[in-house]
Amino acid sequence: MQIRKVNFSKFSSIRIGGEKEVYIINSPDEVDRLPPDTKIVGGANNLLISPSSKIPLGQLSKNFDYIKISPPYLHIGGATPNGKIFNFTKYHNIAGFEFFQHLPSTLGGAIKMNAGLKEYEIFNNLVAIRTERGWIDKENIEYSYRSTNIEGVIFEAKFKLIQGFQSHLVSIFQTMRSNQPKEPSLGSTFKNPKEAPAGKLLEQVKLKGFRVGNMAFSLKHANFLINLGGGKFSEAVELIEIAEKRVLEEFGIELEREIEIIY
Ligand SMILES: Cc1cc2nc3c(=O)[nH]c(=O)nc-3n(C[C@H](O)[C@H](O)[C@H](O)COP(=O)(O)OP(=O)(O)OC[C@H]3O[C@@H](n4cnc5c(N)ncnc54)[C@H](O)[C@@H]3O)c2cc1C
Repeated sequence: MQIRKVNFSKFSSIRIGGEKEVYIINSPDEVDRLPPDTKIVGGANNLLISPSSKIPLGQLSKNFDYIKISPPYLHIGGATPNGKIFNFTKYHNIAGFEFFQHLPSTLGGAIKMNAGLKEYEIFNNLVAIRTERGWIDKENIEYSYRSTNIEGVIFEAKFKLIQGFQSHLVSIFQTMRSNQPKEPSLGSTFKNPKEAPAGKLLEQVKLKGFRVGNMAFSLKHANFLINLGGGKFSEAVELIEIAEKRVLEEFGIELEREIEIIY
């Protein structure tokens, strides 16, 4: 099986992880040949990876980077970057992917995380996904806010083909993202508990701008853990654990991580 070296300190959006060997998956039948418990990596925009982790990693090859219009559906490969999907759907006047601008992801990662912005979620127009076990209809997948029960590798997905790209949504989403920091991050660190937005809770326990080494909760948006340059995995984990402890002690709320840590 093909193996590629990936430097996660450059590749991951938070610029942490060091160099690792990654199995490149060229077809669904190769999944059986992956070591047990291989973790699939998309664009590593939601993964905090320990440089010393021994967990095997796998990634889809470019064979799964495609978009095909096939009425009444739109077929998209699991390795297709969101930016490409946004540009394609804008060009072809297709609705439903307007929120993909500035949402760094591959399609597989976005589906697994049920990525979105407020009520605009990738599952809204999803019809089915294709894994190594074949096609699975949306009705047979459990999904909720930033979470799904999908097991296996997402090679492709099928969406309703809806005409009418909605430009006005793009500017609304741009305004919604205007408080996001520019430094390397993984987006929101914690899911928003029903009681209050995670960023507000972090602010209230005095963690906005709080720094350990070269990692910090952003002054611009406390729920973004940012790398100030050369930040370490251990510093990021320390900050996450401090936040969880303080919010629990102060408000009795157990923060749930939106990012995934690979120890
Ligand atoms: C600046 C910034 C802004 C962000 N804003 C948002 C936002 O507005 N909304 C939002 O929801 N998220 C946001 N995020 C988080 C991130 O963009 C999403 O979680 C995204 O969906 C991750 O996609 P990825 O391809 O990078 O997946 P990864 O981070 O590589 O992986 C995420 C999860 O998906 C799994 N996975 C990846 N590919 C596959 C596949 N082909 N098959 C099966 N499982 C797979 C991984 O195993 C892992 O569990 C933001 C991140 C950043 C850095």
